[in-house]
Amino acid sequence: MQSGLPSADAIRDEGAACPDHAALEEFRLKWLGKKGEVTALMKTLGPLAPELRAERGAAINAVKDAAVTAFEARRAELDRQAEDAALQAGWVDVTAPARGRPLGKLHPITVLLEEVIDHFTGLGFEVASGPEIEDEFHNFDALNIPKDHPARDVWDTFYTDRREIPRTHTSSVQIRAMQTRKPPIRVISPGRVFRNETIDATHHASFNQVEGLLVDRHVTVAHLKHTLETLVQKLMGRKLETRFRPAFYPFVEPGLDLDVQCVFCGGVGCSICKGSGYIELIPGGLVHPKVLASCGLDPDEWQGFAFGMGFDRMVMMRYGIDDIRRLYDGRLQLVRQF
Ligand SMILES: [Zn+2]
Repeated sequence: MQSGLPSADAIRDEGAACPDHAALEEFRLKWLGKKGEVTALMKTLGPLAPELRAERGAAINAVKDAAVTAFEARRAELDRQAEDAALQAGWVDVTAPARGRPLGKLHPITVLLEEVIDHFTGLGFEVASGPEIEDEFHNFDALNIPKDHPARDVWDTFYTDRREIPRTHTSSVQIRAMQTRKPPIRVISPGRVFRNETIDATHHASFNQVEGLLVDRHVTVAHLKHTLETLVQKLMGRKLETRFRPAFYPFVEPGLDLDVQCVFCGGVGCSICKGSGYIELIPGGLVHPKVLASCGLDPDEWQGFAFGMGFDRMVMMRYGIDDIRRLYDGRLQLVRQF
């Protein structure tokens, strides 16, 4: 200690010995505070002769610098220690990807549709599409439903001002497929259809269908039956009891409905299956000879089967959705999964 002043080494050691930020703050106040040692030393300069004052002033500045350096060095050290401790308490992998927002999911209709397409393309079917606004020929005439046929009343049809039809079924794509392809033909055509229905839990003015069509030689009901049964099994993830009932549709002969055991009650009977234990799922049949002929195919040479699956109903069964409107509002919530 020269001239009664503390040495820079002593100050550095004192700073380095501070165990924490609180002690370091005390160190700062002691040396650099308004009432600290450096201020007090500066006050001793006044009575000195000018040449002594300059010399001692420089020495006091050196004390001040030593205190500042010691304070800053120790503060950096303590900060680093605190950071290390925080890292050890909760280890952070800085190379991990950032935590993002949860992603949305595909709509159940899209999910099931992709499965259906996957299933059928695996069987050699191709996906065909057609316009949603049809003409009467493709929607009705070519499907053996002439203008005066009472069957037209079965479909609650919308008409545009120009007598165009928002298609009532995807069967119209069958016609387009047969007009543009040569047999053997294997196509499915998923798409939206439109009916002038009163909207309730089981009816909607716009819904989805998947049409299937196969045209080849020696096609029988057995081919259709097998195709539909394996489809249902695949989509529902298990073998369900099925049954075929005769049904009338103008574009097939014979026509039939595939019913599937009700997944809501297990076949016992409930309000959804109206006590029957079965849900009507897929209408179909063998393509009517007149329909083949209207597409330029010789019915004596070619046969085919066709079906038009009410796709929304399949989605509802699979996910346990009991109201079709849920599929089309923005707050879809799955209540059960089978
Ligand atoms: Zn039921």
